[in-house]
Amino acid sequence: MRGTSSITKTQFNRPTEGIEIATNHPCTRCGNPAVIFQPYSGMHLCKQHLIDDITRKAKRDLRKYNIQPGTIAVALSGGKDSSALLHLLHKILAPSRKIKIVAITIDEGISGYRAKTVENASNLASNLEIPHTIITFEDAFGRTLDDLMEESDRPPCSVCGVLRKNLLNRTAKELGATHLAIGHNLDDEAQTILANHLRGDIRRLVRLSHARVQPGLVPRIKPLRHVPESEVLAYASAVGLQVCPKACPYVDAAYRLGIRIFLREFEDHHPGTRHGIMRGFDRMVGALGDAYPPASLVPCQVCGEPCTDGLCQACKMLGKC
Ligand code: SF4
Repeated sequence: MRGTSSITKTQFNRPTEGIEIATNHPCTRCGNPAVIFQPYSGMHLCKQHLIDDITRKAKRDLRKYNIQPGTIAVALSGGKDSSALLHLLHKILAPSRKIKIVAITIDEGISGYRAKTVENASNLASNLEIPHTIITFEDAFGRTLDDLMEESDRPPCSVCGVLRKNLLNRTAKELGATHLAIGHNLDDEAQTILANHLRGDIRRLVRLSHARVQPGLVPRIKPLRHVPESEVLAYASAVGLQVCPKACPYVDAAYRLGIRIFLREFEDHHPGTRHGIMRGFDRMVGALGDAYPPASLVPCQVCGEPCTDGLCQACKMLGKC
């Protein structure tokens, strides 16, 4: 597929488009039939070696977070990324009796889409015997995302993202979590970094750093941040996770669509681009971290969640919707 000249919006929702999937090559490590090719490493990997590779990368990132005994809450939407993350964390951390895993699912109220992923999330949590909390926008905020979109002309992903973040943090705290694990993959991370570069928002960019711990905010960890989206999907398939093929109906309105299309096409022509963006980001955070210290936070006067000026983004947003 290398050399593909354009990627359409339809392909946006197909993580395997634009990457090289090899089924007629031997695995570089063991000679068994390969299921995926990593253009950035030059390796063909069979199912087992793909699983091993992703597990190794997740373990390496987990070590950087210096996780202590306690509870890790996993944001489980029921999509491929969060499902693969929960499966991986359960595999890696379950042997340690000192770390408890809980799952949180936010049901935003997106008709024709969210019900199925919530069902997948429930099934997975139940199969892994992981305590699972489901919270809805309707219960927490009195309105579904669909309701809010009828009242607001804001981009759906911006409303959804702010409210979900608020609810995840609130719930993780209620569950006593020391960390909140998010299923962002390499593509997500590279897109976010690039989006902030394109906006020239260096302050926000540096503050994306996971190393910053702020009062009232459960520290976020992203163990899949070095795993490409296509490989997360392949992992989900290899370990038999249910993955809903439908995409969120609001996704086409996302600002990052253009960035995603651009990045995927660029990666296609120049394998390793996403890794390069991540390396550059990590170096930038190391060099500029002190110049952009975390903002001082105070509790929101309405909901109590941390914010910079007494009224959090979620409450501001709900007031205007
Ligand atoms: Fe929310 Fe946008 Fe994701 Fe849909 S695509 S779930 S609206 S952030």
